[in-house]
Amino acid sequence: MADLAFSLDLSDDQREMQKWLHEFAADVIRPAAHEWDEREETPWPIIQEAAKAGIYSLDFMASQWFDESGLGMVIAQEELFWGDAGIGLALMGTGLAAAAVSANGTNEQIGEFVPAMYGTEDDIKLGAFCSSEPDAGSDVGAMKTRAVYDEAKDEWVLNGTKTWATNGGIADWHVIVASVDPTLATRGQASFVVPPGTKGLSQGQKFKKHGIRASHTAEVVLDDVRLAGNYLLGGKEKLDDRLNRAREGLKTGRSQPSMATFERTRPTVGAQAVGIARAAYEVALDYAKVREQFGRPIIENQGIAFKLADMKTRIDASRLLVWRAAWMARQGKDFTAAEGSQCKLFAGETAVWVTEQAIQILGGNGYTREYPVERMHRDAKIYTIFEGTSEIQRLVIARAISGTYIR
Ligand SMILES: Cc1cc2nc3c(=O)[nH]c(=O)nc-3n(C[C@H](O)[C@H](O)[C@H](O)COP(=O)(O)OP(=O)(O)OC[C@H]3O[C@@H](n4cnc5c(N)ncnc54)[C@H](O)[C@@H]3O)c2cc1C
Repeated sequence: MADLAFSLDLSDDQREMQKWLHEFAADVIRPAAHEWDEREETPWPIIQEAAKAGIYSLDFMASQWFDESGLGMVIAQEELFWGDAGIGLALMGTGLAAAAVSANGTNEQIGEFVPAMYGTEDDIKLGAFCSSEPDAGSDVGAMKTRAVYDEAKDEWVLNGTKTWATNGGIADWHVIVASVDPTLATRGQASFVVPPGTKGLSQGQKFKKHGIRASHTAEVVLDDVRLAGNYLLGGKEKLDDRLNRAREGLKTGRSQPSMATFERTRPTVGAQAVGIARAAYEVALDYAKVREQFGRPIIENQGIAFKLADMKTRIDASRLLVWRAAWMARQGKDFTAAEGSQCKLFAGETAVWVTEQAIQILGGNGYTREYPVERMHRDAKIYTIFEGTSEIQRLVIARAISGTYIR
């Protein structure tokens, strides 16, 4: 058969991986979802089981990231988050820190820090990525955390408060985005790795959240944190060159550290939202077939069946946008129409909408904690907020398609 120019068929390896993760999600994650949502704690036993199974491991993550089609990681995320989003994020939080190192570090730094962030099956480690601050959420340029270079000691000194950090304070490794030259806003920022046991880093308040409650979210306080020069991602020479170019008003490329991280992770975040939406849709479809009112299953009413048709259509459209962006990123194609933002925007809003429709289809049962759709709805809402709110995704897309600085 001649080579196809275009195909949506998954390879045998991808299908096998998808089936394996689906089974893990169904057998291990889904049954534990309610308990850890109620406990609002990091689900260590599940992370341990995932490490034992080889899912929470650098080998697994790397093989999916480097899958040549680009789809491995997004397929994996969809299955795990189909199991449960809170537990899924507890498993994937380290990935954000690892992505920050991969996007901004030298090859030596990637080789040293990324494996250490995952640890081993017998000695599990966690990573956290800390960019957001109390006064710098969407406006990353307003960041106040400062990194000052102590030339005599070749050390960096970090001071400031980070907020909303997934795994913040409980992680072994923290990646901190800090301002080196505040006059340059985002172009004056750099990323630093803080290794385990570093003095001066502590956890601030832990947040009690609406959803994804099995995932730990907290403030991280940096009080005179001193780091040797090699903990600056990318190295000092590259940073100095970038700062000098910014000062001269020259282009600095896509090197703003938070943006470089988010560009890589948006398709995976979109895939997580697809997983939640698919889970809620399946519960609603099954329920609608067995729940009888007026002497017939409620699915026999167009009002319900059409809702399910729309849910399925939007979920499939979301997945296609996610796959496109993941494929483009892996082929090194530029996101000229902000395709990464498109997929995150659409999948995130779809997850919120679909989970709400699922509650409606389950009626009173849908509104209780006896059924999983109310948890899925609470979990879904974060997908219009973190890793860039829906408004910020629209801003990025609007700027990309118009070439105009839309505010
Ligand atoms: C559970 C959770 C986990 C998180 N994990 C991490 C993490 O691991 N690491 C990390 O660094 N951060 C993390 N975040 C932070 C997250 O990325 C921010 O919450 C997000 O970027 C929004 O920032 P903000 O909350 O300050 O909202 P704000 O920026 O204050 O936005 C408030 C509202 O104003 C809108 N808005 C702002 N500016 C504009 C504009 N120009 N045009 C139109 N509308 C605008 C926003 O869209 C939003 O609706 C997490 C957050 C949560 C809640």
